[in-house]
Amino acid sequence: MPTLVMKFGGTSVATLDRIRRAAKRVGVEVSKGYDVIVIVSAMSGETNKLVGYVNETSPLYDAREYDAIVSSGENVTAGLMALTLQEMDVPARSWQGWQVPVRTNDAHAAARIEEIPTDNINGKFGEGMKVAIVAGFQGIGPDGRITTLGRGGSDTTAVAFAAAFGAERCDIYTDVDGVYTTDPRITDKARKLDKISFEEMLELASLGAKVLQTRSVELAMRYKVKLRVLSSFEEQSDEAGTLVCEEEEVMENRPVSGIAFSRDESKMTLVSVADRPGIAAAIFGPLSDAGVNVDMIIQNIAEEGRTDMTFSCPIDQVKRAEQALNGAKEAGDINYHDLVADTEVAKISAVGIGMRSQSGVAAKMFKTLSDEGVNIKVIATSEIKISVLVDRKYMELAVQALHDAFELEKA
Ligand code: ASP
Ligand code: MG
Repeated sequence: MPTLVMKFGGTSVATLDRIRRAAKRVGVEVSKGYDVIVIVSAMSGETNKLVGYVNETSPLYDAREYDAIVSSGENVTAGLMALTLQEMDVPARSWQGWQVPVRTNDAHAAARIEEIPTDNINGKFGEGMKVAIVAGFQGIGPDGRITTLGRGGSDTTAVAFAAAFGAERCDIYTDVDGVYTTDPRITDKARKLDKISFEEMLELASLGAKVLQTRSVELAMRYKVKLRVLSSFEEQSDEAGTLVCEEEEVMENRPVSGIAFSRDESKMTLVSVADRPGIAAAIFGPLSDAGVNVDMIIQNIAEEGRTDMTFSCPIDQVKRAEQALNGAKEAGDINYHDLVADTEVAKISAVGIGMRSQSGVAAKMFKTLSDEGVNIKVIATSEIKISVLVDRKYMELAVQALHDAFELEKA
């Protein structure tokens, strides 16, 4: 039997009614002759609620207990989905991550999947079971404790299962009908893309377009898993949604495919650090050890042997960053006059594989922002993206202006 992976996000399983609706879609695929592996998220809002409990109880929590708590939302939806399918006379069974087992490394709260043995679930398919429902987002670490894969991790669970089971396709059901040129809530000119390359999707995902977890796209690219993003609220057709696929399959050739943004950024500056060999390692080593995801980095020109070092990181990691840097200062590893955090910034990025062959994209981006009077605080580029940090209050304006400038509303 061919295998299909279907993943339902939080809004698609938010109520018993929606679970029923999702189960019907699963039933349709079963009737086409597929063995289906369903990956579920927690009911929408549930994981946030659990994370809130953790933070309120223990701000600098033990990550093992964080995982024990926040993974629980998916256990509920997996069981409910199994019961719903059974009520429809579809033979179905649920699995929690450890039961499969989804083996991960020991990076609690941000674990990576290392192995998914298929014998357990395939054995049940052999006995006539039609649908295996697996709780997304969770696994089991080398120490035998529950791990989670980072927020949005059930996308990664889905792709990893599709790869492990050689699934024909991995369908990601969500509350939007595909991947857009930018968030339609920011501009109604945003347009749905029929296809997008793995590479562009990877950039968009990592830049804050929250449709897919970044890691899931990396995995799909590595294992060439055909990935489709589609809405669980609209009628299903073979054309529905956005197909994330190899570059050659995407026909459009424009310099910019999408504008991504991330609201929750902060910019931190170490004022006046000694400019000496090893200083970057002395700063960013402790930050990395503390689990701070540093993104953009700027080192200013030195004057009289001292320089300013600026970096950006997610806003909720500012405390951790401050702690790590103060610790390094107290230990005498680094020396700075001041540590300034600007928590009022947002990151905006233009992404497109066409940038590799077309010039002038950066110039056009900067000119557009300047025409709108938006000041750029930090710039970073890669082969297929240009990112800037701007004051958060100008974020929407900047996204709209760039979407217009690159004419993304036109197919
Ligand atoms: N429920 C988890 C979260 O919100 C995982 C997921 O839905 O993908 O991050
Ligand atoms: Mg998600």
